[in-house]
Amino acid sequence: MSAPASSAPATRPVVPPGATLESPAPLPMVDQPAVPFIEIETLRSKEFIPAAKEALGSLIVEQGQTKVVRPVFNWAGRNSLFPLHWGLACCAIEFAAAFGARWDAERFGVVPRSSPRQCDVMIVNGTVTWKVAHKLITLYEQMPEPKWVIAMGNCATGGGPFRTAYSVVPGVDKLVPVDVYIAGCPPRPEAMLDGILELEKLIRERKE
Ligand code: SF4
Repeated sequence: MSAPASSAPATRPVVPPGATLESPAPLPMVDQPAVPFIEIETLRSKEFIPAAKEALGSLIVEQGQTKVVRPVFNWAGRNSLFPLHWGLACCAIEFAAAFGARWDAERFGVVPRSSPRQCDVMIVNGTVTWKVAHKLITLYEQMPEPKWVIAMGNCATGGGPFRTAYSVVPGVDKLVPVDVYIAGCPPRPEAMLDGILELEKLIRERKE
C-alpha cells in the first residue's frame, strides 16, 4: 500500500538559491530597465482610462444613474473636503493647529482653500457678530453646490459666552444651514477632526 500523499505546503527557502547571507542575491527588479514616466502616462491614458469609462458606462446601463454615479460622487466628495481658509476668533487657532504636524488633518483629504469658489465646507470657527454676518452669507453663497457647514465651538453653535451681547449672532444657524455642530470652548483639534468624520458619514448617506 502506497503512503498517503502529504497535504502540507512545501516550505519556502529562506535564502534564495545561490545566495548566502553574506552575499544575498540581487532583487529581481534591479536588473530590469526602469519604465519611463511618459510610458506609464501613455498606458494610463490609452488603456486604463478608456477601460474604466467603459466599465462605468456598462454599470450605469445595468444599475441606473443614481445607484452608480451618486455613490461615486459621495465617495470622492467625502474624501476631498475643502474647507474655507478663514478664522473668526479663538476657535480658529484650534482650526489652524488641526492642520499642523501633530494632528495632520490633511491625511483625511481635508485641504483648506482660500477662495470660496473652490470650497465645499465652511467651518465657522469663532464668534459670529452681526457686523460680519452679511460677509459670511456672501462667502457661503459663493461656494458651489454641494456644500456643508460645520459650527465649530460654542460661539458658532449658539453664541457661547457672548450669547446675550447685542453684537453677537446667537448661533450661525440663524444665517446659514448647519450640518454638524462641534461642542467646546474651544473644541480641541481632535474634536474638529471628529466633526469632519461626522460630516463624512452624512455625505456617505447622501441621496440627492
Ligand atoms: S467658543 Fe470659546 S474658544 Fe471658541 S471662539 Fe467662542 S469664546 Fe473663543
